[in-house]
Amino acid sequence: MDARILQIALDTPLDNSFDYLWQPVDGVVPQVGQLALVPFGRRETVGLIIGMSQESDVPREKLKAALAVRSQMPPLSAQWLDLCAFAADYYQRPLGEVALPGLPKNLRGIKTTSLDKALKKLAAAAENADVTPRDAPVLNRAQQTAADAIADLAGFQPVLLYGVTGSGKTEVYLHAVAHMLAKAAADGQAAQVLILVPEINLTPQLDANVRARFPGVTVATLHSGLAEGERLQHWMAAHTGHARIVLGTRLAILASLPHLKLIIVDEEHDPSYKQQEGLRYSARDLAIWRAHQLAIPVVLGSATPSLETWQHVQSGRYRKLELRERAVADAVLPKVGLIDLERKAPREQLTEGLSATLLAAVRKRIERGEQSLLFLNRRGYAPVLNCDSCGWISNCTRCSAFMVLHKRDRRLRCHHCGFEQRIPLGCPDCGNVDLQPLGQGTQRVEETLQAIFPEARILRIDADSTRRKGSAQQAFDAVHRGEVDILIGTQMVAKGHDFQNLTLVGVLNPDTALFSHDYRASERLFAQLMQVAGRAGRAAQKEDGNAAEVLIQTRYPHHPLYAAVRAHDYDRFAGELLDERRQACFPPFMYQALLRAEARELQQALDFLRAAVACVDNADITVNDPVPMTMTRVANVDRAQLLVECGSRPALQAFLKEWMTHLRAMKTRVRWSLEVDPVDI
Ligand code: ADP
Ligand code: ZN
Ligand code: ZN
Repeated sequence: MDARILQIALDTPLDNSFDYLWQPVDGVVPQVGQLALVPFGRRETVGLIIGMSQESDVPREKLKAALAVRSQMPPLSAQWLDLCAFAADYYQRPLGEVALPGLPKNLRGIKTTSLDKALKKLAAAAENADVTPRDAPVLNRAQQTAADAIADLAGFQPVLLYGVTGSGKTEVYLHAVAHMLAKAAADGQAAQVLILVPEINLTPQLDANVRARFPGVTVATLHSGLAEGERLQHWMAAHTGHARIVLGTRLAILASLPHLKLIIVDEEHDPSYKQQEGLRYSARDLAIWRAHQLAIPVVLGSATPSLETWQHVQSGRYRKLELRERAVADAVLPKVGLIDLERKAPREQLTEGLSATLLAAVRKRIERGEQSLLFLNRRGYAPVLNCDSCGWISNCTRCSAFMVLHKRDRRLRCHHCGFEQRIPLGCPDCGNVDLQPLGQGTQRVEETLQAIFPEARILRIDADSTRRKGSAQQAFDAVHRGEVDILIGTQMVAKGHDFQNLTLVGVLNPDTALFSHDYRASERLFAQLMQVAGRAGRAAQKEDGNAAEVLIQTRYPHHPLYAAVRAHDYDRFAGELLDERRQACFPPFMYQALLRAEARELQQALDFLRAAVACVDNADITVNDPVPMTMTRVANVDRAQLLVECGSRPALQAFLKEWMTHLRAMKTRVRWSLEVDPVDI
């Protein structure tokens, strides 16, 4: 056989593919979708074969030869390659930068020992013969209606499972999974189901539920917390079709799933589905695309759907299935109360930011042997250290941000660039030794509560307290076992957890989001408050009729957002927000892309963006002025951005493609990146 040309995608921003020569080797026939080891520059790297031909535009003598093909593993499917090609095209990145980083590192290494080991393990693993679910509870009527409707779906049909917190959406998912696996087994077909959750911390709970329900089925888990060996094993189980159920965080949407028949996206509104660096994709949106490509159903679950999804429901593109009540008999949605911090009389007594009303409610829970959760989205002890006598504050020297006080470690730490230093003994400007922490972080709330309730068992869960692998899981387990009276946490504790004995949620400092310049802030705050409120009162009410309670400390008790939260009225709130968005021509009625630039000097970044504007000549596109980002400086780099908008997605896409060729040709030292459908503006 003749030597052939392999077209190979590599993980580099340079190009879409590179040609390599393939010298025939006995018994190895390269195929599209296989990985190949190739020389690249001065190193060897693994790329993906995306095409083959007899000819190349590169002269033969300049072509390098591919070194090996990973023929021991099944090639990635044409459908998977199409998914990557779509994502590359839509998010304006080279194919290799989309396809390769999503693969386990061990697959992209030069050695194949771990690959061979993973394949051997899979070959020895038991077959998934038994897809029968065990111990499935009887669904309530609303759940049954929803599950039946999902079971009846055929072909591409996005469904919004709109269910209040605690309405038992997970049960509906598991029934949908059971139905799909049983149907495929009856038809003698292989089937795979993909379930996405927004947070890595939610995977153990779901994983345990799924494995208990389907003891005869291989389950694979994909998230960023896996060790490389595990990651390869799980990825390969999905890729070979061995795993029938695959669950994971956003990165799982790029997994190879040759027999995918159903996708479930839990908490579809969650901002974590958007990747915020590199390929800035939305896993929710890619889930929809994948379901469309394969003509399979996709279920989006949420108590507070994203406005994008809600709009699709209004327009009839997505079907809505509703669960209006909590699943557990006698469990009801908690009562939401506001604690007015500005009221003149009787004024709320504050102890380090904690109101007397809230503290009394916590005390009552301790007396009754119930749990409380205090939610504050700010880790550390205090967000800033301040000198009363000269006005010095702990600014980060490298960012436009404050250094956060971490009292126990005796450090000031910047949460944006990671810079840290010891707490100064005195004011760096005037020498005053009495420096004051301003405001509250989770550590300070913990300290305050411990002083007020010395007998209480208090646990803080935030990024600082859970750095060690497995420590978050241990902490959540302790809460579930009832070893904690007061739980203090950031958004890590707000989502999805099914705490059984928690009857009070206190929200400490939500007001800042009310006045954000980001038009999405109120949508997000509403979702966050409903989510955290949803952690309370999930079990049956006690006979004494003490209902679960949510208390929000605020200076703006008359804000309409809080009225909507109190009424648990997402429908109305979403309707009003959509009207506002329609009038203001914001998404989902407008499509956006954001060009970001970073440079040592703000001026350079802005100049680059102005030059980028100058090459736009397209009447369909609205180009806004380049502006510094809200937090302009991070790690000694100034950042600016430019928003472009268009009423048509295809028109925006066509424009971006053309614009990118201009931008790539611009000679600049400024670092820039383009984000399609940006979520933080
Ligand atoms: P959601 O995801 O909608 O917030 P979950 O799926 O976590 O709610 O379910 C909330 C609680 O209701 C869980 O403790 C679950 O075990 C329970 N539950 C769900 N469905 C039923 C049912 N049909 N009968 C009894 N309990 C149920
Ligand atoms: Zn001072
Ligand atoms: Zn910094």
